[in-house]
Amino acid sequence: MKPDFVDFHAHLDLYPDLAEAIRICDSSRIATLAVTTTPRAFARNKELAERSSFVRVALGLHPQLVAERASELALFADLLPQTRYVGEVGLDASPRHYRSFEAQKEVFGKILKLCAEAGDKVLSLHSVRCAKHVLDMVEASLLMGRGAVVLHWFTGSASETRRAVDMGCYFSINERMFASPKVGAVLKAIPTDRLLTETDGPFVERDGVPIQPGDVSKVVSLLALRIGKTVPETQQLLLRNLSVLVS
Ligand code: MN
Repeated sequence: MKPDFVDFHAHLDLYPDLAEAIRICDSSRIATLAVTTTPRAFARNKELAERSSFVRVALGLHPQLVAERASELALFADLLPQTRYVGEVGLDASPRHYRSFEAQKEVFGKILKLCAEAGDKVLSLHSVRCAKHVLDMVEASLLMGRGAVVLHWFTGSASETRRAVDMGCYFSINERMFASPKVGAVLKAIPTDRLLTETDGPFVERDGVPIQPGDVSKVVSLLALRIGKTVPETQQLLLRNLSVLVS
């Protein structure tokens, strides 16, 4: 079955009812990457998404949780052979999480190494306030060419964006990114064949309530305007990009 939409970064297990969130993505034909924030959360996501045509589950260890969950790295390594998808992983240098930055780098470095060794993994990366560090570590890991990277909610500079493009990265764009004046410079630097969409639900809210599972309709329209294509053309482009990424 062919999807109609792409949501390449969603926290379906943080909605009140995971099974219902998966059902919504299936019935709306949304190719969804259900990222997880700890290795412990993976099994239940995997089990509930087992029969889904459109939801794939990623194994994650969120940088904002590394301070308490670094010990789950062993479990991460054990589970990695069970999935092609990894996320949410990365680094977060925002003031609230900067204290664990050294630990984050250690964990992320090990995750990149495991993924590079395993080969053929597709990663959804968090890079808040540290695009350069994330790109440096991806480059050092020699992952590119043996796996693929999607930068989720990327807010680096135009030159960091160009560097990521040159490295072969994809970018998953959500509707909240359009609230920032930076989005223009970032989008200008990304070739259209590297674009994907995401909700980052339920963290992204619309009118004060979490965005519905897989609801990328608004970001598709915003993106279409920005790249000068119609909405259907943009939908086709995003589906093509996804199929190239995962082929
Ligand atoms: Mn996220």
